[in-house]
Amino acid sequence: MDPFVTNKQYALMGDSTFFWRGITAISNSIKEGQDILYIILENKNTAMTGHQPTPESGHNVMGDQTIAQDIEKIVRAMGKGEIYVKKMPPSNREKYMDILDKALERKGVKVIIADKECGITFHKRKRTERNKIIEKQGFVEREEFVNISQEVCENCRECTKGTGCPGLTIINTDYGEKIGIDQSVCVSDTYCTKIMACPSFEKVIITRNRAPRPRARKISLENLPVARKREFPDNWNIFITGIGGMGVGVLSSVLARAGTREGFQVRFNDKKGLAIRNGAVSAHVLYSKNGAKISTIVPNGKADLLIGLDMLEAERSLVYASKARTTAVVNSTQVPTIPMLAGMMNYPADTEDNIRKHTNSDEYFAGLLGDISELYFGNRLYTNIVMLGSAFQLGLIPVSEQNLVDSLMETVSPGQRPRNMEAFRLGRKLAAEPELLYVKNTVSDDRILVLNGSTQDYKSTLEQKTGTLQHSYWMWWEGKPVALLYRKMVEDAVAKMGLDDEANKNLARRVYDLIMWGNPDYARKYVERVLEVYALDRPEKAFAATKSVIRNLHKVMAIKDEIYTPHLLTDEEKLERDKVRYNIDEDNGDRISYEHINRPEFEIFGKQWRFDLPLWLAHNWLMRLFKHQKWVRPILERWGWHKTELGFRDWYSDDVIGFFLKTARDNFDLALRGLQIINDPYRPDEFAVTGFREVVWPKMEKAKQQFEELRSPETQLPMIPLAA
Ligand code: SF4
Repeated sequence: MDPFVTNKQYALMGDSTFFWRGITAISNSIKEGQDILYIILENKNTAMTGHQPTPESGHNVMGDQTIAQDIEKIVRAMGKGEIYVKKMPPSNREKYMDILDKALERKGVKVIIADKECGITFHKRKRTERNKIIEKQGFVEREEFVNISQEVCENCRECTKGTGCPGLTIINTDYGEKIGIDQSVCVSDTYCTKIMACPSFEKVIITRNRAPRPRARKISLENLPVARKREFPDNWNIFITGIGGMGVGVLSSVLARAGTREGFQVRFNDKKGLAIRNGAVSAHVLYSKNGAKISTIVPNGKADLLIGLDMLEAERSLVYASKARTTAVVNSTQVPTIPMLAGMMNYPADTEDNIRKHTNSDEYFAGLLGDISELYFGNRLYTNIVMLGSAFQLGLIPVSEQNLVDSLMETVSPGQRPRNMEAFRLGRKLAAEPELLYVKNTVSDDRILVLNGSTQDYKSTLEQKTGTLQHSYWMWWEGKPVALLYRKMVEDAVAKMGLDDEANKNLARRVYDLIMWGNPDYARKYVERVLEVYALDRPEKAFAATKSVIRNLHKVMAIKDEIYTPHLLTDEEKLERDKVRYNIDEDNGDRISYEHINRPEFEIFGKQWRFDLPLWLAHNWLMRLFKHQKWVRPILERWGWHKTELGFRDWYSDDVIGFFLKTARDNFDLALRGLQIINDPYRPDEFAVTGFREVVWPKMEKAKQQFEELRSPETQLPMIPLAA
């Protein structure tokens, strides 16, 4: 460290780095009397390169017992008890941050040891325990998961930016992109909930009395057609690519063993790295015969088989591929990268096309294999072996079935052999009958398809929402008339406008939402405003203004306050979707319950009251109680409750839509741009003004400022693309 630096410094290192070079750095800092905070992330193994032991692990790479060296004692000894050393778990985020802040303020060398098990080993341990229970009794009696309610999520990306957790993922809904949980990656350590970014997070508790019903339809894996065995002249090269946790290493081990059994000369080379953060992992496996020369790296353009467990990594690996020589077997289930999760970039639309274009497109084989593995086995962990089976069936692995299966059995643990064998045979079946690659041909129940995106059209949405209003037990005295009113309001507006099915569906959903938020009069105001905009809209612009207002006015009117959020958290559609997601069959004895991770806020006499909801209270019964308190809204609003959000709603409805109505005849594009002032400039279907409280307030201010600039004759803002 530079002795001339006078400002506060901090350095992060893992525990294996501590033993590698960190000890020297800390020792030097102590010797030089530097003002620096060292944060050592301790998980007792070298997670980044494949979980090799460290001097702290207490065993060596062969599994023999060794002396377990203690980082805390080493650091204390280096400072002779005079430096500040604190070992603590970082899971209690607020306490941890507080201690970090205080440590940074101290003078001299300080060391914080953040003691937490690696997410991957934690997950593996939990999975092994779970598998043992399932093997023994066929099901787990009680399980807990972290869930994000897509209804409540605002897509503000505070959680993804604040945690960088790869267990979070992007999902597409009728309300645009939202953040969800990738259950195959999530370790349910509840870390993402600790930042208290929003009320979307909840703990889901599942209890069962017997094995759940299968999610995939019964597919016979018997009597598979004999796989074509391909001969090769001298060399056969395989490149496998994916991201941490997808099982690239398992595939390379199986293939290297199988090639050796087959009598080939085999070289292989695994590249691991940043596995826990969805970092790239790849492997080269090369076979040769007849004494042909062989390297440990697939030469550029010389891969015969490219196995892409992840599409983006497969695209990045095209340097090893060529049109003339390479067949690609690709899992097209998309896994967003951390920058995508943080909202810094989108998933490139042309990834799969590029892979196909730069490999032998006639033999290209791809499908949502991750989703199929999840359906079939309950998680995506078997995707690699499914792909191995497909590649084998396609004749792309030039070894015998016996040698390949024996190698697979040798590679995986005894407890995992039956499932891996099933995955291998499933992969072969998919290659033999590619129509099974369509998820709709694999599910046991069509309702599962809603988890992969909306399947509803306008008509079914209208029917469903009318039915919900009609049968709503808490509106029993007015359910029927409200349902009729709702239906008429939507049908009249739809008939007047004649928009496409998607826009009609959007309208039907949102009118229902606003009735639930307030009452039919509140929803009517919305419809009237939409119709006013429609009257000045233009067919040659694909009615972009009306479509924008359908989405945007709803966004600002359906304020997610402490009454509407509980409604969304207990909404019938949400509860039904969760039952499908967690495979709950009440007739089978399965039960689902919730603990909401919520921090309500009330403003009383100009003072903000914000508190964490105690867990014993944070259940659906309390949410149901809250959602029926619409009558208190006018009282609380008089005291300033959600005044910023209410002001923003009125501003959008009066000023922004008012501006459109005044300007559209003379300058339609400018007027439309005004309506889209709350959207992401490059994706007008998504919102820029998102989040809760302190997160959204500055965005509201910014939108207002931009709107003033937009309508000022002096400013020329660049035009944004029109919404389709
Ligand atoms: S609202 Fe924001 S913080 Fe909450 S889940 Fe959605 S993206 Fe994450």
